[in-house]
Amino acid sequence: MAEKHLYEIKHIETSFRTDGKMFKAIEDVSLYLNPGEIIGIVGESGSGKSVTMMSALQLIQEPGKVTGGEVYLDGNDKNMLEYGSNSAEVRKMRGGRVSMIFQEPMTSLNPVLTVGFQIQENIIEHLHLSKEDAKKRAIEMMKMVNIPDAEERFAYYPQQFSGGMRQRIMIAMAMSSEPSVLVADEATTALDVTTQAQILEMIRDIAKKTNTAVVIVTHNLGIVARFAERIYVMYAGGIVETTDAERLFENPEHPYTKALLKAIPSLDLKEGERLQSIPGLPPSLIDPPKGCPFAERCEYATERCKNEKPEYTEFTETHRAMCFLNE
Ligand code: SF4
Repeated sequence: MAEKHLYEIKHIETSFRTDGKMFKAIEDVSLYLNPGEIIGIVGESGSGKSVTMMSALQLIQEPGKVTGGEVYLDGNDKNMLEYGSNSAEVRKMRGGRVSMIFQEPMTSLNPVLTVGFQIQENIIEHLHLSKEDAKKRAIEMMKMVNIPDAEERFAYYPQQFSGGMRQRIMIAMAMSSEPSVLVADEATTALDVTTQAQILEMIRDIAKKTNTAVVIVTHNLGIVARFAERIYVMYAGGIVETTDAERLFENPEHPYTKALLKAIPSLDLKEGERLQSIPGLPPSLIDPPKGCPFAERCEYATERCKNEKPEYTEFTETHRAMCFLNE
């Protein structure tokens, strides 16, 4: 029998309509998470990282549509995609069993309500505590994310906090429903490097303490290098390589992963030495190439790459990459 995971996305596919034509934003994306595990989904903007997680949580809106795939949570056999996006089951999953934090907290926090009230309401909705107990828990959550004077700041409005503090409030809110999975979608991108590291360290500590699984969605491979245990590299709507973080850095197999690794800022960079960026642009998803999606930018591309799409090659149980060089 196949091993059951805490959260599993299988062969998910999402399409968008533009000018009367449908195009696939993601295709055949599969990933899984175990309790307390931290995974990273990394790729350039438009690679499908966020669409993957939003599709799994049924947050895709018209003109987009999840057109295939399966999502399983907490080891249940029922495919979550079979429930309607407004069903009680999906609402319980979204913001409850699976919480999300985004890049800009102000899009998720209501500016006219105090942060304490918003956390408290989330707790009442998902954990069904009394108002008083929910308030106590909200203050505990604010303390957990190191908000000083949490009792007093319970009554503050979002705009009375700095960017970093607001992101902490979002984490407190996301963790207040005792989720099994926390999705951090470019959650620290807008912050300075030091604050980014502090927030991600905090997420890691909380995740390990509470056995919550975490998905870090980012365009920054340097970030996942420090915090993720397993990494999925996405390109043009698909996963081109996945493996344990350590192995990815020591034995990358896909030319795109190798190029991303070369583009990570290194402290060893000598004066005058330039960071290597990946030349070219990802292909159009509206009119996708026939062969390997990376062919236009790949230094190893052959005629075959331009005409045929590679399949995955498995190197170990957890390491696979989609490239003809690996055959
Ligand atoms: Fe490069 Fe060809 Fe491999 Fe694609 S299949 S990554 S073009 S070598």
